[in-house]
Amino acid sequence: MGNKKRSFVVQEHHASHLHWDFRLEIGGTLKSWAVPKGPSLDPTVKRLAVEVEDHALSYLKFVGEISEGHYGAGQVYRWDIGTFDVEEGEDPLAEWNKGTLKFTLHGERLKGAWRLFKMKGREERGRPQWLLQKVKDRYAVAGHIAERQK
Ligand code: MN
Repeated sequence: MGNKKRSFVVQEHHASHLHWDFRLEIGGTLKSWAVPKGPSLDPTVKRLAVEVEDHALSYLKFVGEISEGHYGAGQVYRWDIGTFDVEEGEDPLAEWNKGTLKFTLHGERLKGAWRLFKMKGREERGRPQWLLQKVKDRYAVAGHIAERQK
């Protein structure tokens, strides 16, 4: 299970509040987080990532408008897509359950080593809060902020 290529996507979502949906293929579904400020390639930056409901794998390819009156109404842009892997022998579903994930992204914007870890006892409206952080490597960029698609 360690070396299998898995998909990830980051969607820039212009809902009532702009955020980036960060989704990793884990356990046959897309484990998902809403990142209000978007991912940063700066390894000194920890971005709030609010856990949201799992999405079906088919959502990897979703681009377009979520219509008025539906949850998350607004435009969804594909900000990045690619594959990721975890270290040999690691089980990302077990790591997700433990609240600490390490993975390597192979996207257009996001590459290299990253981590996501759950903050103990921190929730927003019942949804656990995690932090998303670039691990320092050759893909790190000091001062990087997520640029908007549109
Ligand atoms: Mn969203």
